[in-house]
Amino acid sequence: HFITFEGPEGSGKTTVISRVHEALSEKYETMATREPGGIAISEKIRELLLSKDNDMDARTEALLFAAARRQHLVEKVLPALDAGKIVLCDRFIDSSIAYQGIARGIGADGVMDINRFAIEDHIPDLTIYLKLDPEIGLHRIESNKRDHNRLDAEKINFHKDVVLGYNELSENYPCRIKIVDADQSPEKVTRDALEIINQYLDQ
Ligand code: C5P
Ligand code: MG
Repeated sequence: HFITFEGPEGSGKTTVISRVHEALSEKYETMATREPGGIAISEKIRELLLSKDNDMDARTEALLFAAARRQHLVEKVLPALDAGKIVLCDRFIDSSIAYQGIARGIGADGVMDINRFAIEDHIPDLTIYLKLDPEIGLHRIESNKRDHNRLDAEKINFHKDVVLGYNELSENYPCRIKIVDADQSPEKVTRDALEIINQYLDQ
């Protein structure tokens, strides 16, 4: 089972994934990983993408995300799925549609095309969308004093467009993408996510 986690900056994906991973591991073989990154080549591409002194063309950015995704999928995700594991992935194709397709304005269709090429038919079985007002998300990051990289230093309007992109995706793919209200305690968000995941696993 291939389960991805999506959402804007500060929506708590990393925290929730580690808690869900811990809970599922009691019953199932589970692996948690993240994008862009997760393996050596993709972590290098991530560095390139996030580096502050890069002024990168939007399509170059989209291609690099897709390239990082491809290598991570082939080298890490598919072998784990073949071994029968549940794979929990921090971001996947929906991030590219929301960030590069909608917020950067390249258009969802073009971004979908290069990602179809990159992932072939490996669409996630289930996607947990941690839905949050981008203002709240950015505020959370501020108060964490997390170091800003090139991409999360974008203006609020960019992050609002990211959320509009995710909202549209969740309307277009209601069977795959399930919404969890991320404006709750980490405990409650984890419980809500686990309820959806367990329902999916039991069906
Ligand atoms: O998931 P994480 O927050 O670690 O992502 C790293 C950075 O990459 C964030 O600033 C995020 O906004 C950005 N990003 C992006 N386009 C994607 C995926 C992530 O701009 N497709
Ligand atoms: Mg994160």
